[in-house]
Amino acid sequence: MRKKGKGFVEKIALERIYRLFELAEENMARHPERSKRYVELARKIGTRNRVRIPQELKKSFCKKCNSFLKGKNVELEEREKMLVVKCKECGFERKIKGE
Ligand SMILES: [Zn+2]
Repeated sequence: MRKKGKGFVEKIALERIYRLFELAEENMARHPERSKRYVELARKIGTRNRVRIPQELKKSFCKKCNSFLKGKNVELEEREKMLVVKCKECGFERKIKGE
């Protein structure tokens, strides 16, 4: 019973995370500060509900400055089976395990 309820909460949290990332993407060009807020919020929801940020979204934001990363502000490089995501906003590099 309890497990079922938890799954439901996680599902809602995950939906909210995806939605916030969508908003972050929509706002990244014109409202970068707002965009960062959305990323920050999405991450908070993840922590609070113990939901992991999905792999596909992990390369879409900077862990350090919360920028939404896409196109010109990010550099992706594969290094020894790891994906290196470099944020051009603050220079932070993050390694993500490849699938
Ligand atoms: Zn950054």
